Formats: sequence, C-alpha cells, structure tokens
Amino acid sequence: MPQYKTKSYQEFSRDKQIKKSRKEHTCCSCNKSIPKSSSYTRTVGVSESHYHHGNAFFSNAWHPECLADHRGYISWNLRRQG
Ligand SMILES: [Zn+2]
Repeated sequence: MPQYKTKSYQEFSRDKQIKKSRKEHTCCSCNKSIPKSSSYTRTVGVSESHYHHGNAFFSNAWHPECLADHRGYISWNLRRQG
C-alpha cells in the first residue's frame, strides 16, 4: 500500500508511554507478547474507516523498538518520494 501524505486517513492519534504494563499485551507490529510489568507504547486515536460509515477508534500496543522501526520506515519512504 503506498504511503500518501493524507491527513484525513488518520484524524488524530497520540502516544501513551506505559512504564509498567499491568497485564500481558500483544504487539500490533510483530505480534509477539509484551510481558506483564514491562514498558511499552500505546497509540490511541480515531481513524476514518472505509468499512464502516464513520470513524473507528483504535488502540494499539507496541514494543518501543517496533514503533521506532515502524516510524523510521515511514519517514524513510517519505524521503524517497521527496
Ligand atoms: Zn513488537
């Protein structure tokens, strides 16, 4: 899927740094578990949904390094299109 600089696709999102998870989560990037009591990043926001009419709320858990990888990959792509 090409990465366009769309603003409407993702209406808003923000990062929440969790220092100590209260329970086990699954990383949305690598699908591996984030163990209890470890730190992780949660991104929450609202995005336009193409499947439902309206907006969809999302909340994803990430390993900090997976999110950094993901964002690095996107900016790398944008630079290439530059
Ligand atoms: Zn991960």
